[in-house]
Amino acid sequence: MIAHYPDLKDKVVLVTGAARGIGKSIALTLSAQGVHVVFNYRGDDEKAQVLKDELQAAGGKATALKFDVTDHEAMTQALDNFTKNTAPISGLVNNAGISKDTLLLRLKPEEMSQIIDTNLKGAMMVTQALSRNFLKAENVSIVNMSSVVGLMGNASQTAYAASKAGLIGFSKSVAKELASRNVRCNVICPGFIQTDMTGALNEKAKEEYSKSIPLNRFGSTEEVAQLTCFLLSRASSYITGEVIKIDGGLYI
Ligand code: NDP
Repeated sequence: MIAHYPDLKDKVVLVTGAARGIGKSIALTLSAQGVHVVFNYRGDDEKAQVLKDELQAAGGKATALKFDVTDHEAMTQALDNFTKNTAPISGLVNNAGISKDTLLLRLKPEEMSQIIDTNLKGAMMVTQALSRNFLKAENVSIVNMSSVVGLMGNASQTAYAASKAGLIGFSKSVAKELASRNVRCNVICPGFIQTDMTGALNEKAKEEYSKSIPLNRFGSTEEVAQLTCFLLSRASSYITGEVIKIDGGLYI
């Protein structure tokens, strides 16, 4: 069942990492609610145009901005340009993320940096770049995509878990710092969701992981998108600084 949030119509929301997986589902679900979705991409322009057309066909306006979340200059330029010339952004979903599963002993310093720079510093820089704009916008809601791994830890995911735990501390601080300006900031912690990230697991590993999930299955990207819509909408207007797990009971 898809919940409908009328206040999301015409809201301008930036979704990072919307080219595939959870980000793409969020972008499509928001478009179906009439949101003007702004998404970033770092690959080819044609694919971005295809996604833009898909989002528009789903029901909302769409804008593609070319930047990598780790490239401070390109990112601030693209966002400043958009907010000055088009519209203030009143919703942000920091979703772009990477993982590298390997034992701490084998993790290279450059891999640690890449993971922290994308998952944590990237989200911090995008939020910072938009914070002045948020003061001009109404009903601002920020949603940061962490992970249950940021709460419970996971062998072979030390840097990833650190980045996702850091995102929780960052989000709670933003919630406190910007609450007086009516800016909310919440965190989603997905468990195992079916995307390219978990697609890399072999079937046996997936089966084993499913056994540890009380609901006995991986989640869908649409389920995460639904929760994101709720947190972006005014239906969640008194919720800020909250960390919400969507994991089928994995971390009970
Ligand atoms: P995917 O690997 O399917 O997609 C990740 C997206 O992030 C891609 O669109 C990718 O862009 C983008 N991205 C990665 N690095 C950058 C960067 N430096 N700049 C801009 N965009 C970037 O991931 P998921 O959909 O599975 O995950 C989305 C989020 O949810 C991540 O933050 C992840 O950590 C989190 N999560 C996922 C879980 C899961 O089970 N899938 C569980 C818990 C949390 P491109 O297409 O150009 O590569």
